Amino acid sequence: MTIPFRQAARVGAYVVKQHLTGRKRYPLVLMLEPLYRCNLACAGCGKIDYPDDILNMRMSYEECMEAIDECGAPAVSIAGGEPLLHRDMPRIVKGFIERNKFVILCTNALLMAKKIDDYEPNPNFTWSIHLDGDKAMHDKSVCQKGTYDVAIAAIKLAKEKGFRTQINCTLFNDADPEKVAAFFDEMMAMGLDGITVSPGYAYERAPDQQHFLDRERTRKLFRDILGRGNGGKKWQFTQSELFLDFLAGNQTYECSPWSMPLRCVFGWQKPCYLLGEGYAKTFKELMEDTDWDKYGVGNYEKCANCMVHCGFEGTAVADSVKRPWKMLPIAVRGVKTDGPMAPDIPLTNQRPAEYNFSRHVELALAKVRAGKAGPQKGGAAS
Ligand code: SF4
Ligand code: SF4
Repeated sequence: MTIPFRQAARVGAYVVKQHLTGRKRYPLVLMLEPLYRCNLACAGCGKIDYPDDILNMRMSYEECMEAIDECGAPAVSIAGGEPLLHRDMPRIVKGFIERNKFVILCTNALLMAKKIDDYEPNPNFTWSIHLDGDKAMHDKSVCQKGTYDVAIAAIKLAKEKGFRTQINCTLFNDADPEKVAAFFDEMMAMGLDGITVSPGYAYERAPDQQHFLDRERTRKLFRDILGRGNGGKKWQFTQSELFLDFLAGNQTYECSPWSMPLRCVFGWQKPCYLLGEGYAKTFKELMEDTDWDKYGVGNYEKCANCMVHCGFEGTAVADSVKRPWKMLPIAVRGVKTDGPMAPDIPLTNQRPAEYNFSRHVELALAKVRAGKAGPQKGGAAS
């Protein structure tokens, strides 16, 4: 896991404290979606399919600060939509840094050249640039030619200006392990501070439903990729060793959706960053009123293929605190990429999917139109 030592030490101390105090469920990273408007329309995106009234909603600076104060997570990842379309984003980032939080600002990079000077390099601040592979892979994934070149220019610019810079790479079922490995080599050669890699979650509203990975294919794909890089040791990933080990089929994990809770323009999303089955007004309500046992692989049809970091990284981190010796062979030899895999969770007793999206949208629209919600204090898109 290649995060700065001070960050690893602080997050590690936080996690150990949660365990020592017997806290069963705790947040590691606040996932923040302060708007859903985006300047791209990627085929695998499940976040932007909203009417204009909702796309025009913004969480205000005050709401963003309340979210981190309420949940107390040591880190915040800002996504969307495209966060650089939010006029108050520099102030929001500054506010989190002043609260001594680690801030990851995710962007498709289209606006970085224009906006980068609104931000200052800081050891607690990292740009995370959306890059789903080499030029052909990425431009296909985001459905717009030329986007890869813009992202590469943005990475170079951010590094020149002294920012910590990583990429977030989502893989689909057409990923070629050889090409992904070559892409990771290229990224490391550019001096990136890390790679966050994850299989795409099968969003029910994504325009392209043909290219999502199931769990079996995910495990095989990650073995094929990591096997080309010394069990993953060749590259610097931002994720924990045990999460990578899980992706490669060597761990049987249940998800911890509370570890990366999502606060968005609708409230606190139940149960996780990926699934919008309801919204809570407060973090306390999210934690206390969500029936967590109804969700997860084996419990719910919509979870069947999920291996995404926002569900399983928290489980891997908790495991590394409880059983630190499990990390030793990975540190020495890298992730195991051959031999039998760990058993997967059976799906025989999962409950069928419920489809709530239209109801949430109607409720949110009714509130907007009654003047009870957005466009909010953050202002309209620039
Ligand atoms: S850049 Fe991100 S938010 Fe925008 S359409 Fe693509 S996946 Fe969705
Ligand atoms: S498996 Fe867990 S993290 Fe994944 S969608 Fe289901 S509840 Fe969310």
